[in-house]
Amino acid sequence: MKLGKELRPWLGRRKPDIDIGVKEERAFAWQCTHCAGEISVPLRERLHELETYPRGDFTTEEKKEAERFYGMGQWSRAPSGGGIHFEKIKCPRCSTPYLFSYGVDEPSNSFLVLTVEGIIEIGEDGPNRVAGSD
Ligand SMILES: [Zn+2]
Repeated sequence: MKLGKELRPWLGRRKPDIDIGVKEERAFAWQCTHCAGEISVPLRERLHELETYPRGDFTTEEKKEAERFYGMGQWSRAPSGGGIHFEKIKCPRCSTPYLFSYGVDEPSNSFLVLTVEGIIEIGEDGPNRVAGSD
């Protein structure tokens, strides 16, 4: 996995993007760097169906790479608090993959909040590609 351009930098504490009390779906969207199409990630279902996320083809090795990229250890907390989740999200138009990172925290009893912490474009890297070459 080759991590490229950061579309949403990993900063310190941010305001949550959604909390458990929000009734309607709320999506986090950004523009694809390749085709300029919109990539939209529904957040409410991620908060309400936590145990089913992350989904998709994100391997344990890739998760470790993501943690290394962000300088996290196995027990590190998300920058805004809580546990960190990594997902690979693909552009619906051109399939460019992105590393989508979010934290889920419980600031008070059963009150869950979700904060989008980072978005990075994942570059092509085949099995024989040397890391860091371009
Ligand atoms: Zn695209």
